[in-house]
Amino acid sequence: MSAIETLTPAAVTHWIDGKAVAATSGRTGVVTNPATGEVIAEVGYACIEDVDRAVAAAKAAAHDWRATALSRRAEALFSLRNLIAENRNRLAAFVSLENGKTMADALGEVARALENVEFACGIPNLLKGGYTEQASRGVDVYQIRQPLGVVAGITPFNFPAMVPLWMLSNAIACGNTFILKPSEKVPSASVLIAELAKQAGIPDGVLNLVHGDKVAVDRLLEHPDIKAISFVGSTPVARYIYETATRNGKRVQALGGAKNHMMVLPDADISMAADAAVSAAYGAAGERCMAISVVLAVGNVADPLIQAIRERVARIKVGPGSEPKNEMGPLITREHRDRVAAHLDKAVQEGATLTVDGRTDPAMQTNGFFLGPSIIDNAKPGMACYDQEIFGPVLSIVRVATYAEGLRLINENPFGNGTAIFTQNGGAARQFQFDVEVGMVGINVPIPVPVSYYSFGGWKSSLFGDLHMYGPEGVQFYTRSKVVTSRWPDPGASKVDLGFPQVR
Ligand code: NAD
Repeated sequence: MSAIETLTPAAVTHWIDGKAVAATSGRTGVVTNPATGEVIAEVGYACIEDVDRAVAAAKAAAHDWRATALSRRAEALFSLRNLIAENRNRLAAFVSLENGKTMADALGEVARALENVEFACGIPNLLKGGYTEQASRGVDVYQIRQPLGVVAGITPFNFPAMVPLWMLSNAIACGNTFILKPSEKVPSASVLIAELAKQAGIPDGVLNLVHGDKVAVDRLLEHPDIKAISFVGSTPVARYIYETATRNGKRVQALGGAKNHMMVLPDADISMAADAAVSAAYGAAGERCMAISVVLAVGNVADPLIQAIRERVARIKVGPGSEPKNEMGPLITREHRDRVAAHLDKAVQEGATLTVDGRTDPAMQTNGFFLGPSIIDNAKPGMACYDQEIFGPVLSIVRVATYAEGLRLINENPFGNGTAIFTQNGGAARQFQFDVEVGMVGINVPIPVPVSYYSFGGWKSSLFGDLHMYGPEGVQFYTRSKVVTSRWPDPGASKVDLGFPQVR
């Protein structure tokens, strides 16, 4: 029996002050298995009072947690890391069941999530400040970083385990207490993480979980005891979160959507570029914010590259993620699948060429929310397939004459999450790295998600706020700096001096 088959549908509850707590609003939603279309769980949505209860628990736990020795906090994170590793199959099974991605992909997500917890285990070192002896005669100056207090994270459906752990590992390690509002479509991975955090010895109230929709989010954005909001999701919601939470005086990092271009230069290895484009466009059914959704084929590379991509696309096996033979699972909901599929007709109406139509895939005949991989050739700015984030298994090809034309398209695009260049010319790649206005760049790497000890974030409409997520910038986000100037003079030498303090 697979790990997924052993999971039982459950009523998904909040997790407040170390306990499962039922929602009191009476409003509920359902979790659907996208591979079958079946409802598998019910989620109680938070009302304002539920959120307030979670904030009160987080506030009550904040003082003791902040005062806990750094090595004890690191120890708890280390135990969490080990428990997640021990439970990786269960966690991945929840991800696969509710999100639809294949088990292999879900295990990859958990592996990347673990790296974020591992990074946070180094918190004693990460929080070291600076010290200057003798800044003036007998005067020392030092800088420390302190936690913010109660902070909250709001996460999307496409990484049910990894994105919550991007946020909460560093937030908690830094000494904050945390409230997570996961995507209501994929809540179970978060519940398991909260249970494991308790087993790991993270005190009650340090990590809390509320499920729900805009009602819960809006209360988090306005609650006076919440000091910072981390958000990952679509650009319109990211913009709303940023504007609302900053208006309420909070620190915000709000990561939004993407349109990631992969430029293939004429000297690139066609086979390697095609492998990379197909892997990055159709992995997780294109529902990754770092998915490649546009290939910029430069000059005469276009025809052989598209041929190589087509050959690979024809071999992709679509079906339930629980079956190891399948490489691509369903999309998250029927409505989303239909929205993605509608782009195919629209692209043709707007003058593009539908080279591969994923609607012919046999998996579409089932009740799951499947769509086979599609290729749109001759896409251009001004067409919906190019201008909008599709977030599905659709790869658009834009034929450009030169590197400069391709670069201009990337830099003019309102999104700036990820991008990649494929070439064998180091000088061209170096120039691209210098020129391109995007936050994460791959050189012969199609999905350049930074490792946990760098930070993750896009530019332009892909991120609202100043600091990227996780890694060193995550630590900066979840702490504020304090600078202390101190001296221990002989009180006998003390006198009044109304002048502005100067270095002596
Ligand atoms: P979404 O914006 O619909 O939802 C994200 C979260 O916001 C969920 O928890 C949801 O409950 C909440 N939410 C939704 N609408 C809201 C509203 N009107 N007011 C307040 N809260 C609201 O995103 P999604 O569909 O879950 O995820 C897919 C999107 O996330 C894509 O656009 C993808 O590019 C983006 N994403 C970005 C990154 C990144 O790092 N930049 C990573 C993953 C996903």
